[in-house]
Amino acid sequence: MGDAPALTEPLQLRIPGPTPLPERVRQALAQPMLNHRGAEFKAMLAEIEEGCRTILETRNDVLIFTASGTGGMESAAANLLSPGDAVLLLNSGNFGDRFARILTAFGAEVDQVEMPWGQAIDPEDVEVALRQQPGVRLVFMTHNETSTGVTNDLEAVARVVKAHGRLLVVDAVSSAGSVPLQADAWGVDVVLTGSQKGLMAPPGIAVIAVSQAAWEHHRGARAPRFYFDWDNQRQAQAEGSSFSTPGITVLYGVREAIRMILEEGLPQVYARHRRVAQAVRAGVEACGLRLFGDAAHRSDTVTAACPPLALEGEGTRKLLAHLRDRYRLVIGRGQGKMAGRLLRIGHLGMVTDEDAVQIVTRLESALRDLGIAVEDGRAPRAARQALAQPAPLSSA
Ligand SMILES: *Cc1c(COP(=O)(O)O)cnc(C)c1O
Repeated sequence: MGDAPALTEPLQLRIPGPTPLPERVRQALAQPMLNHRGAEFKAMLAEIEEGCRTILETRNDVLIFTASGTGGMESAAANLLSPGDAVLLLNSGNFGDRFARILTAFGAEVDQVEMPWGQAIDPEDVEVALRQQPGVRLVFMTHNETSTGVTNDLEAVARVVKAHGRLLVVDAVSSAGSVPLQADAWGVDVVLTGSQKGLMAPPGIAVIAVSQAAWEHHRGARAPRFYFDWDNQRQAQAEGSSFSTPGITVLYGVREAIRMILEEGLPQVYARHRRVAQAVRAGVEACGLRLFGDAAHRSDTVTAACPPLALEGEGTRKLLAHLRDRYRLVIGRGQGKMAGRLLRIGHLGMVTDEDAVQIVTRLESALRDLGIAVEDGRAPRAARQALAQPAPLSSA
């Protein structure tokens, strides 16, 4: 048995969200309840809105909904669509599929640029699709595809969408606050995220930034909506409040986490995610596992790897259970059509260099326990080596 931790050690949560809560955030959650129509809430909301603008690099309106990330996605559909609208969806995995279902539920005719899982969206395919579809006003996409461990080149895709004068709506739930995302400079009209991933807070808050052009389009959108209506929420937030009672406790956590991110500095946060991701990838490969997906677009927030052949399907379940029970490490499994065929390690939000080493050390031990031949200590060595020579951020 490898260096198994004590069974009383807290579980290390390394799924791609929810992510671990920093101690400061946990403390912040214990604050007394307040009046969401009062001065304290107004101040907290202003700080959160401004913090989100800084993190998303936008000057646009930031709306705060009490919902999971999917609620943010649904709000985009409800506020931008009219039944029968033709839209373009750039789909590269499970969360692309989710967007397809939401858009369809709101009556859109969804045309898709669909990539095989593990591949990134090709901007040239987007160019071709937009040329063929002059009537499409809205383009939807996922920035970081959490199901495959692939980060799409948002800047390049946005350039194409802007050149065609269309609106771009981006699900950045597993990228915002962890990898560079310059909403205004890149021309992203609507960008949405959730509280429980890079933002290091509990689940329950969706953040959505809306450009002037998106607001103008919104005026003509006739999809039914009430709870997620952007106008109601914008008006309430302009008065320092919220349309309905918000998840105040989660917002305490969001405010504290934003403070932590800005104290560390965005460039430092991004560099840390890049460094940790390289270490995890190196360690996973040193375990003899094959990384999933296009090497040129590997995500710095989630690593997807193929389990050893001997552990596919039911074996993957056994490996995850063993990791949890014996090594106190919780990682994710494949989603959708990759169920039983992927391991997914979340390394976003509160994650350190040492965490990266620990994750791959425990993975290596668990694999060995289950009869997979892995040389003792190879994975942590590879991770440490990667940490010692971090690649620059610009090589995205
Ligand atoms: C986690 C996630 C979501 C939303 O998930 P919720 O469970 O609704 O918070 C959406 N898109 C991506 C890319 C995600 O990673």
